[in-house]
Amino acid sequence: MKATVIGAGITGLTLAHRLGQLGHEVCLIEKQDRVGGVIRTMYEDGFRFETGPNTGVMNNNRLVELFDDVAPQCRPLLARPEAKRRLILQGNSWKPLPSGPISAISTDLFSFADKLRLLGEPWRRPGTDPDETLSRLVVRRMGRTFLTNAVDPFVSGVYAGDPDKLVTRYALPKLYNLEQRYGSFIGGSIRKARADKAAGIVRRFGKEVFSTPDGLQGLVDAVAALVGHDNIICGCADVSVRRTGGRFETTFVRQGRQQTVTSDVVAVATNAPQIPDIVSDLPAELVESIAQMKYAPVMLAVAGYRRWTGKPLAAFGGLVPSAQRRNVLGILFPSAIFGDRAPVDGALLSVFMGGVRRPDLLDKSDEDVRNLIIDEVYATLHERAEPDLFRIYRHRQAIPQYDISCGRRMELIERAERDIKGLYIAGNIHNGIGIGDRVCQAYDYAERIDRENPKP
Ligand SMILES: Cc1cc2nc3c(=O)[nH]c(=O)nc-3n(C[C@H](O)[C@H](O)[C@H](O)COP(=O)(O)OP(=O)(O)OC[C@H]3O[C@@H](n4cnc5c(N)ncnc54)[C@H](O)[C@@H]3O)c2cc1C
Repeated sequence: MKATVIGAGITGLTLAHRLGQLGHEVCLIEKQDRVGGVIRTMYEDGFRFETGPNTGVMNNNRLVELFDDVAPQCRPLLARPEAKRRLILQGNSWKPLPSGPISAISTDLFSFADKLRLLGEPWRRPGTDPDETLSRLVVRRMGRTFLTNAVDPFVSGVYAGDPDKLVTRYALPKLYNLEQRYGSFIGGSIRKARADKAAGIVRRFGKEVFSTPDGLQGLVDAVAALVGHDNIICGCADVSVRRTGGRFETTFVRQGRQQTVTSDVVAVATNAPQIPDIVSDLPAELVESIAQMKYAPVMLAVAGYRRWTGKPLAAFGGLVPSAQRRNVLGILFPSAIFGDRAPVDGALLSVFMGGVRRPDLLDKSDEDVRNLIIDEVYATLHERAEPDLFRIYRHRQAIPQYDISCGRRMELIERAERDIKGLYIAGNIHNGIGIGDRVCQAYDYAERIDRENPKP
């Protein structure tokens, strides 16, 4: 069985790797002249920095399996213990997000009434609306100040999104299932862990934050090496898939020449808006549904300081509640998380801006962005010096928003995969946005393709 995988981000790479591992012939086709998609690490003047995602979370066994496969060439680099500290901006001060019951009682991020309300969370009845938004769910179970000062900034940090629009069962399915299956987030987490143990499910992960010593690029490069560079074709323009006689022909233009690859199976692993351009005969309703799908734009500004004289950065970083009406969504401290991302005595910051609430910020000039960030860093981290390294990366289609339109789209994808035999639609159009979700989906798709298309 020969498979063509389109898009060499972490999803496509992992899918191609697992298919190869299962004994199939794979051809991975990528538009850019490099692999990794939004994952890219740069090294300049003693600073190692990411131009997209900064960290992953070990949140499923598939990710651990992938690291097993790339060892010993690539090993995870886990966050330092101090990175467990997460901050929330209030005015110009970063306040620690409570990490345990005692700090949860003493924090002034949540009102006294909501703290009392949280004590009753295990006994509150589960919601009945399957399309309930994240903000409604949180207010119902935990109270408004938990929404404003914990969940809203968390949603900015993960989705660059709006909790009034994201539907819990698509955006945070684990949270939704805890409530629906066990009746509570708090009691449910404990009961689920017990149930998994009783069912013999071994968790090989502990939700550790990871990168690799070479940054996240180290992981994608190692997976690409497993796929085999002869099986990856980069720099492909005008990629288009056509079904002929029960097989697929994928044509593309590379170095001015049109080429065709024939395969039994095609798996698309690009962002959603690219899918209809690649697969021309998708059902009209699915094409329409994809056109309606929203992606949050995100701008990442990287600021490197050779000598940091501001506040100590012993934390993961901080998130900004939207009620604070600032220009930034959050600031990560990669040099504090992983230690070696800046020269000794220096610091590296990753500042995220934009999102669904402030897409306009991506249109500001580089100079305006630089000035905004210098002001924010001075106001909240008390660093007066200008950064020695400053880079801006604009991601216009960064994070898909799993809103109310998601359910119907998932049905349409399933139907298209049933009707067009051999076509598989992977990627962040469904199944989660985090690196762990992407890897998990890629394994699931590869194993399903293997089952449904047995080797001759
Ligand atoms: C700024 C930013 C910050 C993030 N931060 C985090 C984080 O801290 N932690 C985390 O877990 N996740 C984070 N994410 C999310 C996570 O990084 C992504 O969901 C994940 O990397 C996406 O991988 P992918 O392979 O599905 O898609 P992509 O990385 O987008 O890869 C898709 C690939 O398809 C290729 N392609 C597109 N069109 C075509 C075509 N027509 N023909 C051929 N190839 C094509 C693209 O060039 C690309 O290489 C972040 C995302 C962004 C954008």
